[in-house]
Amino acid sequence: MADIIQLLPDHVANQIAAGEVVQRPASVVKELLENAIDADATLIKLIVKDAGKTLIQVIDNGKGMSATDARLSFERHATSKIRSAEDLFSLHTKGFRGEALASIAAIAHVELKTKQEQDELGTQITIEGSDVVSQDIVVTPKGTSISVKHLFFNIPARRNFLKSNTVEMRHIIDEFHRVALAHPTISFAMYHNGSEMFNLPESNYRQRVVNIFGNKTNEKLVPVEETTDVLKISGFVGKPQFAKRTKAEQFFFVNNRFIKSAYLNHAINSAFDGLMKDGSHPTYFLNLTVDPKSIDINIHPTKTEIKFDDEHTLYAILRSSVKHSLGQFNIAPVLDFEYDTNLDTPYDYKDKTASTPTIEVDRNYNPFADHNVSGKQTTAFKKQTLNNWDSIYVGLESKSTREEQDFSEVEFESEEKTESLFKNDSASEATYSTYQLHNKYIVSTIKSGMLLIDQHRAHQRILYENLLKSMTIKEAVSQQLLFPLELHFTPTELTILKQLKEDLEATGFIFSNFNKESIDIIGVPVNVPDSEVSIILEQLISDVEQEVPDSNFSATDLLAKSMAKSLAIKTGQSLTNSEQEHLVNSLFACKEPNVSPTNRTTFVTIDVEELDKKFM
Ligand code: ADP
Ligand code: MG
Repeated sequence: MADIIQLLPDHVANQIAAGEVVQRPASVVKELLENAIDADATLIKLIVKDAGKTLIQVIDNGKGMSATDARLSFERHATSKIRSAEDLFSLHTKGFRGEALASIAAIAHVELKTKQEQDELGTQITIEGSDVVSQDIVVTPKGTSISVKHLFFNIPARRNFLKSNTVEMRHIIDEFHRVALAHPTISFAMYHNGSEMFNLPESNYRQRVVNIFGNKTNEKLVPVEETTDVLKISGFVGKPQFAKRTKAEQFFFVNNRFIKSAYLNHAINSAFDGLMKDGSHPTYFLNLTVDPKSIDINIHPTKTEIKFDDEHTLYAILRSSVKHSLGQFNIAPVLDFEYDTNLDTPYDYKDKTASTPTIEVDRNYNPFADHNVSGKQTTAFKKQTLNNWDSIYVGLESKSTREEQDFSEVEFESEEKTESLFKNDSASEATYSTYQLHNKYIVSTIKSGMLLIDQHRAHQRILYENLLKSMTIKEAVSQQLLFPLELHFTPTELTILKQLKEDLEATGFIFSNFNKESIDIIGVPVNVPDSEVSIILEQLISDVEQEVPDSNFSATDLLAKSMAKSLAIKTGQSLTNSEQEHLVNSLFACKEPNVSPTNRTTFVTIDVEELDKKFM
């Protein structure tokens, strides 16, 4: 038989390899920014059009390249950063594989202009899909400018696979943040479709964080500094009361390189143990410096994980330094506080902004004593949440008159429809037909057997349908706030909120102002406690950014889902019998009671026959 193995032509091999390095426009942004930093630039400009689908350009004032190097830089495995395998163990640069430019040039139109300090003239090279189209001598300033146009022009499948501009832009901004945070002494600017999104002058680390995440961030930051033989830590953690629902503000840098580490993240979380409300995540911006020999970054080109020699030690040091900082800045566990609604509000009311929130520690509190003292506080807390809980139904009231009839029409597999679903009807005063299991499920009897309802999902369904209704017929009822709420957001977050403004208004929000860094809210939907507003909006922003489901994106639907998720009673919340019954009734008054807004099962039934079998 004839030989059948062939070497792939270069351009095909390059395209395949490019798939590994360049997944989306943000990957190009990351590679180009890192090259500029490796070239010792002090000023780096990122210009993006159509979320990078049309243009990504990085201009730096770094050391530039000679004509020969400029040409070589597009060859696979062409790098100036390592000479021998040994060098891999003491890397001080971001790049070392010599793959990025070759990969990018294989799947886009690339134009490079570069000049070294000592040269009069520079070099311009144009490459389209690995083919060099032209090479010229040009007048250009010191440094390098690389434009990447028409990404994936020769791989339509990849191009079609790209997400919406909002999503791709989010990824680009994430990469930009990571690089800019790792290098506060370098000036960065970023432009999208001609308008400036970030302008970050050379600064110290605190200023860099504030310049990126907004002035309001400043008061949130608690410094963390530690130097030991194996590890140097510097940076900030966020005060617990400002913790976010999302993990958007969590950054680890190891030797100035952004990394993700679930293990080290755990160290931080455990340092915050007892300080955080459920479901919120600590903010942190931490730089770790270790001996390059003690880490292994020689892994997948785009992955951000690295391997440490001695993870356990790092864990312990990190945890104790964060704990120490929190302690030094007098941040004591919230669990033992007098209940103070301010602690529920990540941002204070407008009229109080000047005073920092005070924290009252109950010095008599003894966690081991019988809870006579704190018992009082727990009741207070419980009452508070239950009040809120009640108010969630305000909007449902009109519906509930109808419920009884609708309810009797509900049908389960083997059930006779003429019967009422629950046997309680008259007896509801003395005996209850529902029972709460593990503060998670509501158990009830139906004719054919028993019904188990997931309280959180069921409530999401109820709220979701209710919200959708008020949004589509725009009949939402607002409750005016006594004190307008001023909430702070980053510019990116504000762009998203602006897009959703109309839909938010349809749910009952009233905005008096959209400023550069903040919004003023003077009215909220009746069923929304004002302490929850910022959490709801944060959750909403993060849901939009993730844009799930991606395909049939409807702002209205997403907003209803997101708010339902935020507002729904949680697993673990204990409910009175009448609350349980109300929930069951409202669920079966829904159009689609079987599933939550995200298509998860809300209830299951177990037939008596099934139970009988178990007793055989
Ligand atoms: P790597 O960064 O892994 O070396 P790249 O493909 O990203 O591989 O870049 C190849 C080479 O091109 C680099 O090693 C560097 O010498 C040169 N280079 C790339 N970008 C720049 C830049 N902005 N300024 C100066 N030299 C650059
Ligand atoms: Mg590189």
